[in-house]
Amino acid sequence: QNNVNVIGAGLAGSEAAWQLAKYGIPVKLYEMRPTKSSPAHHTSQFAELVCSNSLRSNSLTNAVGLLKEEMRKFHSIIIETADKYAVPAGGALAVDRNLFSQTITQTIKNHPLIDVIHEEVTEIPEGITIVATGPLTSENLSKEISKLLGEEYLYFYDAAAPIIEKESIDFDKVFIASRYDKGEAAYINCPMTEEEFNRFYDALVEAETAERKSFEKKIYFEGCMPVEVMVKRGRQTLLFGPMKPVGLIDPKTGKQPFAVIQLRQDNAEGTLYNIVGFQTHLKWGEQKRIIQMIPGLENAEIVRYGVMHRNTFINSPKVLKPTYQFKENDQLFFAGQMTGVEGYVESAASGMIAGINAALLFKGKEPVIFPNETALGSMAHYITTADHKHFQPMNANFGLLPSLNQKIKNKNERNLQLSQRALTTIQNFSQYVHNLACDF
Ligand code: FAD
Repeated sequence: QNNVNVIGAGLAGSEAAWQLAKYGIPVKLYEMRPTKSSPAHHTSQFAELVCSNSLRSNSLTNAVGLLKEEMRKFHSIIIETADKYAVPAGGALAVDRNLFSQTITQTIKNHPLIDVIHEEVTEIPEGITIVATGPLTSENLSKEISKLLGEEYLYFYDAAAPIIEKESIDFDKVFIASRYDKGEAAYINCPMTEEEFNRFYDALVEAETAERKSFEKKIYFEGCMPVEVMVKRGRQTLLFGPMKPVGLIDPKTGKQPFAVIQLRQDNAEGTLYNIVGFQTHLKWGEQKRIIQMIPGLENAEIVRYGVMHRNTFINSPKVLKPTYQFKENDQLFFAGQMTGVEGYVESAASGMIAGINAALLFKGKEPVIFPNETALGSMAHYITTADHKHFQPMNANFGLLPSLNQKIKNKNERNLQLSQRALTTIQNFSQYVHNLACDF
């Protein structure tokens, strides 16, 4: 093999191709636009930002700020170009979207080692290949991926419930139990009185939902029902559905509460919990207001809001290694939103790791696993170790990083210390990776 194939020139694929070329490896980069487009893209540019022009926070008190800072250590084309075409946006890194995508397109097209081929890929090619075709992967390729992984491991939409940090739960108000005491006491239960339930119900019925793209309107029929739709069918629907109290006894009262909201462990470390059955399309501000009405969650830190949108993604905990390689074929990598990372920066970050690892593999070296203490490593760790039965895409967040040795109450201070630890780690690690990739 004398080149690496990259499929898709979005955020992840552009970054992957760039990292490969940076280490002297010839790349064939396949992009279907403009011959064929996705329902969300509007141009033929690479790394098109399909919606917002913001790459979110630039601060080290925010995990996506940390993620960007780590990517700068690897000369990420996405982040360096974003820095160059930043527009004023407070603490966020927002960009002039045209200059951003045009520059990335030109830089990649002009690179002597990158051969751009404008065609839809419908079969996964032989040899070292990175599939980075995004949340709206073309139908023909989706079919191929589904054949390869098994139908049950490729999904076509998110129906995600909000995820919160365990540390932010008030444990004086909740209790830990499984329904009918079956198995280990596994769920955090938030009990509600009738009055609390009625107040919660009324707020939920009136809460505002986010706008839906026309190509996403059919999702309800295909998947699980959002809680705001369920709620409109009447109070009983919730009491017999995700808020049913049966089989749960609150040890404080010795009785079954009127209603219960259950939280299920979301990551292997047990630092994150999701709200069972609360997949939702409410606006984010509304989600926060409603969640904080739940007893015990008054100060909940929401690390991932509920979403329901079209999204092609694979069951990474089942099929991927933390190097972004397919478990059954080391030569095949997946990257971007389709691996279950969520967001522009996260997609680019996974493309960066896949690109670096494909470069190492091409040179006959072992791909590397990024350290868990870093935002880059913690995302790869999460998507490959999360509960595969309930796997949903995830943004970068501090809840994914291992805790600090000491407890720090102030959130900003704690986040800054997590960032400092990550940056020290990534400094040494980036040097190590660079030496490894440059040493023939
Ligand atoms: P993409 O950037 O979509 O790149 C995939 C590329 O592969 C595309 O260029 C596509 O044309 C190409 N492709 C697909 N199939 C084939 C094929 N068979 N052969 C060849 N090429 C192919 N994230 C945010 O952070 N902020 C937002 O505001 C935001 N808004 C979003 C809005 C929508 C409607 C959607 C769907 C997602 C949004 N996201 C947002 C999530 C996500 O971060 C972006 O979708 C991001 O672009 C994902 O990067 P990617 O590289 O995985 O995929």
